[in-house]
Amino acid sequence: MKKTRIVVIGTGAVGSTTAYTLLLRNRMDELVLIDSNAGKAAGDALDMNHGMPFVGGAKVWAGTYKDCAGADIIIITAGAAQRQGETRIDLLKRNVSIFDSIIEQILPYNQDGILLIASNPVDIMSYFSLKKSNWPAHRVIGSGTLLDSARFRYLIGQHLHIDPRSVHAHIIGEHGDSELPVWSLANLAGTAIELSNEVKEELFVQTRDAAYEIIEAKGATYYAIALALDRICTAILQDEGAVLNVSTLLDSYYGVSDVYLGVPCVVDRSGIRKALEIKLTEHEQQLFHKSADKLKEIIKSIEM
Ligand code: NAD
Repeated sequence: MKKTRIVVIGTGAVGSTTAYTLLLRNRMDELVLIDSNAGKAAGDALDMNHGMPFVGGAKVWAGTYKDCAGADIIIITAGAAQRQGETRIDLLKRNVSIFDSIIEQILPYNQDGILLIASNPVDIMSYFSLKKSNWPAHRVIGSGTLLDSARFRYLIGQHLHIDPRSVHAHIIGEHGDSELPVWSLANLAGTAIELSNEVKEELFVQTRDAAYEIIEAKGATYYAIALALDRICTAILQDEGAVLNVSTLLDSYYGVSDVYLGVPCVVDRSGIRKALEIKLTEHEQQLFHKSADKLKEIIKSIEM
């Protein structure tokens, strides 16, 4: 039997927490850590290996791009942090150049794996990864609004005293300021969630701005995104056909094409089997188009 291999590129806060989550949940046989700071990846591998007597299972090591050979999933969480006074577009240009070099180094060793992108701005970095790799879009996945939807479900659950796993609700669009809540489809076992407009707005704003709050409190967010990435890996490796709000290349989705955005997608061993065109109200469609327009403008501002 072929061994299952996951590679994590960028073992900062998000990458190392994701690796640890995958290890605890025993998701793969082999886990490779790569970082431009080789010492960080080596230290993480050592630290995780010292826990083997308690978990057993995967072989973990700090590797090189050669180890991408045969990988089922390559998760990219590498990125530069925003410098003081730097605009988002400047940061984006630096991240694009980091991705340019990372994907260039993956391609000689792997042509049939799945790229799972988490670095921000995730929808743009996923689109860039698609263009740079020239892989089919179903094998280039962004974490999209899966985390935002989880935050949304948690906050609705808290408000209603309902387990968030029983709350069905979607955040779609950009993973960022232009994302939107699909209140028209939010439900508990098929029954509509009845809340005042004020409460709805408050729950959405808390969801949308959650990252700012956490970053202000402790510098970075990493536990929930690690669980979200683990969820996507599981849907892929176990060929689940799970519906997850990941970022995918849209093709005539409410008339939107050629941009990556978070929408509900069926995820299985092939990557993204298909994007589900959910029923949106006119207002939701307008917000969705605005989100797509915003990202298209950003794409125009960088060379791809
Ligand atoms: P971090 O600074 O802790 O880690 C980034 C890591 O990338 C560092 O270890 C750095 O050495 C490494 N790196 C930089 N350039 C590299 C290169 N060329 N090759 C290999 N490694 C390289 O940052 P973090 O907090 O872990 O965040 C990582 C990214 O994830 C950021 O872009 C962040 O915005 C994003 N993020 C996304 C979500 C989401 O929902 N998609 C959630 C949280 C964070």
